[in-house]
Amino acid sequence: MNLLIMGPPGAGKGTQAAEIVKELKIPHISTGDMLREAVKQGTEMGKKAKEYMDKGQLVPDEVIIGVVKERLGQPDCKVGFLLDGFPRTLPQAEALDQTLKEMGIKLDAVINIRVPREKIVDRITGRRVCRSCGDTYHVVNKPPKESGKCDKCGGELYQRSDDTAETVNKRLDVYEAQTQPLLDYYGKQGIVLDINGDQPINKVLEDILSALKKR
Ligand SMILES: [Zn+2]
Repeated sequence: MNLLIMGPPGAGKGTQAAEIVKELKIPHISTGDMLREAVKQGTEMGKKAKEYMDKGQLVPDEVIIGVVKERLGQPDCKVGFLLDGFPRTLPQAEALDQTLKEMGIKLDAVINIRVPREKIVDRITGRRVCRSCGDTYHVVNKPPKESGKCDKCGGELYQRSDDTAETVNKRLDVYEAQTQPLLDYYGKQGIVLDINGDQPINKVLEDILSALKKR
């Protein structure tokens, strides 16, 4: 199955992606990893991407598309793949469709993890991190035994400066503005699977797998 996973920051997309690829035995293709790997291997597109990255510039769409194409052309993708973090914009989605068409394949489904905004804000603003070992807690969902102290090492727990309601809301605004056109685009193709992400992790996974089976 050729899949794409989408979800706002804080919706548990990374966790679900890891479970899905384990379950379906397909490669997990995340943009960041893919770019780093292409650069490391010195592929043609990797070299191009590196030029931009070295200058601290954004890697342009046509180069990213080239990297994606190289990656999807590798033998392990014959059984399918899970794209994560790409495409992010409508032009990227259109370019991806074109590339897949040239390869004689298509996207089978877009897994869209939905979590109400206020729940995401709760999840992220409640997060606490240990200053010493980096272990994470949540004031409501996973509180430490002793308030403000890490269970593992006794280190001080703190809230990351990015984890405020204001920052989270801003991040979600950006995410929604960017992805709504994508969801409309894939919606027209009839391949979007809306998944309720406001449930325990294993239940979310169950819903994803059963939605995929029905396709
Ligand atoms: Zn700790």
